[in-house]
Amino acid sequence: MIRLQNIEKVYRTDTVETLAINGISLDIAKGEFLSIMGPSGCGKSTLLNIMGLLDEPSKGNIKIDEQDISRFSDQKLAKFRNQKLGFIFQSYHLINDLRVLDNVELPLLYRTSSAKERKVLATAALEKVGLSNRLKHFPTQLSGGQRQRVAIARAIVGNPQIILADEPTGNLDSAMGNEIMDILINLNKNEGTTIVMVTHDESMAHKTHRLVRLFDGSQVQ
Ligand code: ADP
Ligand code: ADP
Repeated sequence: MIRLQNIEKVYRTDTVETLAINGISLDIAKGEFLSIMGPSGCGKSTLLNIMGLLDEPSKGNIKIDEQDISRFSDQKLAKFRNQKLGFIFQSYHLINDLRVLDNVELPLLYRTSSAKERKVLATAALEKVGLSNRLKHFPTQLSGGQRQRVAIARAIVGNPQIILADEPTGNLDSAMGNEIMDILINLNKNEGTTIVMVTHDESMAHKTHRLVRLFDGSQVQ
């Protein structure tokens, strides 16, 4: 589903050059739930952003669903990203002055012209994460675990084949973290969604199919 070949990423400014990813090749199968661990600064977020087509590698090749995305125009890339990928972040990245339902409808604005259909799909996604009773709340009126569930609903509303999650349980206590993890595990099992998750938490990583460890931009396991 995701194939990375000899990926390198160098961040350059006038004065410093950082080799963030140093030759990583990785195959992630359809339906796999993979976790990525490693110390702060080892390149986890950079690698996830490259997989998510949010950031371009300096060298190497990426294929997603057998398609070589290096040939895509920016417009095609944006559309592809919107259709294939869902993103979840540690700090939720919700829009605080939009209600829960409107937050979840956002990814559909680019592709579903019917307001009614958007509402139906967003309501269904919120049902899946157990938040049917919070549609009209604002994010600031919710707990951290609930906010992350809204973010998951937003990530899955367009039915993506791949979910990329950057420390989705990082801001949550272990009970709420486990709830979020259960939602992701069920999503992977029941819908066959491929999931790549960065985490600092060994106990979360051990619930996934495979663990990749990074150190200094290289894969060590
Ligand atoms: P970045 O991607 O910019 O390195 P991270 O998302 O990895 O940031 O880290 C988010 C926060 O988690 C940071 O404040 C970081 O200091 C903190 N953090 C780092 N290591 C751990 C750890 N072992 N357990 C919990 N939190 C950690
Ligand atoms: P992690 O997510 O494992 O904490 P990151 O992928 O955020 O690591 O960062 C990897 C390395 O790249 C770090 O050394 C970091 O300082 C550097 N880095 C990340 N983003 C940038 C950037 N925009 N500009 C320059 N250096 C960066």
